[in-house]
Amino acid sequence: MKSVDLVIVGGGIFGCAIAYYYTRNYPAKSVMVLERKELCNAATSRAAALMTVVRSKQSYIPLSLETRAVIPELEKQLGESLDMKTVGMMHVAASEAREKDLQELMAIAGTYEQPAEWLRADEAMQKAPWLKADEARAIAFLPQEAYCDPYLLGTFFARCAKQQGADIRQGVGVQSMLMEGNTVVGLQTDGGKLYAGKVVIAAGAWSPLLARQAGIGLPMAPVRSQYWITERSSLFPEASPIVLLPDAQAYARPEGGALLFGVRENRSLSLSPDLIPEEITEFSFSPDRGMTDLSEVIERLGRFFPGIYDIGLKYYMAGFSAYTPDGNLSMGVAPGVNNLLLATGCVGAGIAIAGGVGRAFAELAAGRSNPYNFNDFDISRFGKIDPFSQEWLDKCAMARSKKVSG
Ligand SMILES: Cc1cc2nc3c(=O)[nH]c(=O)nc-3n(C[C@H](O)[C@H](O)[C@H](O)COP(=O)(O)OP(=O)(O)OC[C@H]3O[C@@H](n4cnc5c(N)ncnc54)[C@H](O)[C@@H]3O)c2cc1C
Repeated sequence: MKSVDLVIVGGGIFGCAIAYYYTRNYPAKSVMVLERKELCNAATSRAAALMTVVRSKQSYIPLSLETRAVIPELEKQLGESLDMKTVGMMHVAASEAREKDLQELMAIAGTYEQPAEWLRADEAMQKAPWLKADEARAIAFLPQEAYCDPYLLGTFFARCAKQQGADIRQGVGVQSMLMEGNTVVGLQTDGGKLYAGKVVIAAGAWSPLLARQAGIGLPMAPVRSQYWITERSSLFPEASPIVLLPDAQAYARPEGGALLFGVRENRSLSLSPDLIPEEITEFSFSPDRGMTDLSEVIERLGRFFPGIYDIGLKYYMAGFSAYTPDGNLSMGVAPGVNNLLLATGCVGAGIAIAGGVGRAFAELAAGRSNPYNFNDFDISRFGKIDPFSQEWLDKCAMARSKKVSG
């Protein structure tokens, strides 16, 4: 019967990043990652992968800064480029409320020494030829913001972790937790029992199923995120910036000569974790490729992107992110259960914050203190909840519908 210091359930970007930091910082310890499909097959490979650093939710910022700091190290170790696109991000505010938010955001950029400048509408439209910004009250540009290929980043973490000694198993599912009273001692896997000093659940949308076995009502719900990619056009230069349109609850970024955009639907779709198939490609996120949702909100977007009515849409993508009612992450040490850590509740930001999440959980798994302040992410903050109840699922879906940031 095998025993390891740490076992991580889930080989998405969180699981891979944790394995990387753990093997880098604690090379003498043993770690196994168990992924029942292929690495990064679920939410990770589907992300739009904005790697936003400057946010109103400041507790995310140190985590994203760690992602930025680690990328050159991963690239050096592998001798390959991630080809991260540091095209910058424009925030376009067209109402008094959003202008106020933007002023606050600029102050936050200053606090974290992130470059930021105000732009005139004509300058903004020059940078992003598809954008109609003449109604904007304020436009900010943050040149260091970026996007990347999320699958590549996830697998960079995994490949470096493997080089450093991580045992990464694909095609091995975890069926249940092995408990002795309030202590997790290991896992029942497809391949038999595995004992471990510490267990991290990093199973994305499916995490509440495992947490339930340890008696924890994990406060998160799988909520659909979706985006579209237009056909190619000269309106979308590859070097043009990411654009956030909070008044339209929309974002857009270049994608190989086309435009990738997301816009919050009026009614977000949430689903109980026990209804999500293990093979995510088997789930039909939207039979009409999001067209009904898009048509309900297209006027919001059309105000800033009039070309949307004429351009062809070539590609539709959807996946589940883990949302919470307050829009904060849901992760940390499992309350009331020994040796269990929950790297869960990504709130649609998991690519951007993967570095910080990886580092935090590696330290916690090694019995050290968390280098970051996770108070806002506390698993217990909603009290006792049932993550499988319709009421809870609706609350989390509502949080996404209302989201105005990217
Ligand atoms: C459409 C879309 C757009 C997005 N855009 C952005 C963005 O712009 N910026 C950003 O930062 N984030 C974005 N995200 C969010 C981001 O993708 C997630 O936050 C991130 O991928 C979460 O990673 P994860 O490792 O927690 O989950 P996942 O990548 O879902 O990985 C979980 C893994 O656990 C495995 N697993 C589950 N149960 C078991 C089990 N019992 N045994 C073994 N393995 C198991 C699954 O197979 C899966 O591979 C977006 C997400 C979507 C869907």
